[in-house]
Amino acid sequence: MAQNKPSIAIVGAGMGGMAVAATLLQAGFDIQVYEQASRFGRIGAGIQMLPNSMKVLRGIGVEERLRQVAFMPHSHLNRVWDTGEVKRELPMPEDLYGAPFLCMHRADLHDALSAAVPTERIQLNKKLVGLDQAGGPVTLRFADGTTAEADAVIGADGVHSIVRGIIVGPDAPIHRGRIAYRAVFDSALMPSGITPSRTKWWGPDRHIVIYYTRADRSELYFVTSVPEAADWVTPESWSAKGDVRELRRAYEGFHPEVRMVLDACPDCHKWAILEREPLPNWSQGRVVLLGDACHPMTPYMAQGAATSIEDAAVLARCLPDMRGADIEGAFRRYEAHRKPRTSRIQAISSANTWMSGGNDDTSWLYGYDAWNAPLDEPAAG
Ligand code: FAD
Repeated sequence: MAQNKPSIAIVGAGMGGMAVAATLLQAGFDIQVYEQASRFGRIGAGIQMLPNSMKVLRGIGVEERLRQVAFMPHSHLNRVWDTGEVKRELPMPEDLYGAPFLCMHRADLHDALSAAVPTERIQLNKKLVGLDQAGGPVTLRFADGTTAEADAVIGADGVHSIVRGIIVGPDAPIHRGRIAYRAVFDSALMPSGITPSRTKWWGPDRHIVIYYTRADRSELYFVTSVPEAADWVTPESWSAKGDVRELRRAYEGFHPEVRMVLDACPDCHKWAILEREPLPNWSQGRVVLLGDACHPMTPYMAQGAATSIEDAAVLARCLPDMRGADIEGAFRRYEAHRKPRTSRIQAISSANTWMSGGNDDTSWLYGYDAWNAPLDEPAAG
């Protein structure tokens, strides 16, 4: 590890935190990750990695591992909720955008990212409660009474980010009264297989996305968006249970393939869908935000983790090589490049119009290459 490179503390070991740990280690930085959880659980959820994030994952050396476990869908398929009519289908062969489109279990992606970061670089049970930056290094304060120092801090602490609250000020995420039910379960519970695409079934005021999460199609995942009158929010956003009978009722009248999946599903979880407007700034001094901490979005474009992973590549490219160099300027350069793109994605995600029909250009989204995009102009957006 080069002694003259800045030391970087990363708060949060989620998708963005682990990705930036990997990109910074690869670039030779001295990093340390601080995570509030006591262990990494296998959260029952799927995740789509589209070619824009797969290019970053290829650069940090985890693509092959993911190809072994993940499902490669035939296409990005959008269908009408009851008739099954195709609204838009986008097959994604690898050469279209320079990387594959893979669907996987969320834990398999996290495991792959973790494999790129030695365990001694990750400290668990470290809940950040405060930050002080007064000239010299930044001091991090944790709930267990301990402190740590680093030349710079990256807040990758998710939608409820403490770091964001410290550098931008407090506010609550926006909850527009929509709920996501989700489940991952054994495909053998169904009488037959599903269409081997990532299929989004578009209803008048709700939708459901369904796909396999394993290469051998042994497991599948769905996630919904349903209006819910009550402003239902829980801090236990990943572990709260839903009622599968309520879920089935919410999708009565949907296409037989959707009904088959929901009838076979033994159990489900329930999430409040949260988002925020784009922030006025992503950094203050030597503290910067990444991922959901600065651009949380609805999951409707499957770009939340993907854009966090893109951030990780760009941040590693922007950070200066030498201690004492202009870290603040590097953070501003990162934000100037990234924010136009993530703000556009946040807005389209919020409207939930992506690929709902028409012929929107998809090349700016999936064709972006975070390793090679010119840093002194705004990222494609
Ligand atoms: P997180 O993954 O939330 O990680 C934050 C980490 O910080 C956590 O480990 C947390 O414990 C830790 N932390 C928080 N506070 C502290 C603290 N004070 N001190 C220390 N540690 C702390 N994205 C996609 O790209 N593709 C998809 O298909 C997709 N599907 C989705 C489906 C749903 C229903 C939802 C809700 C989201 C989906 N997303 C998807 C979005 C994706 O899950 C998020 O955008 C992504 O997890 C953000 O990564 P992150 O690292 O910024 O935050």
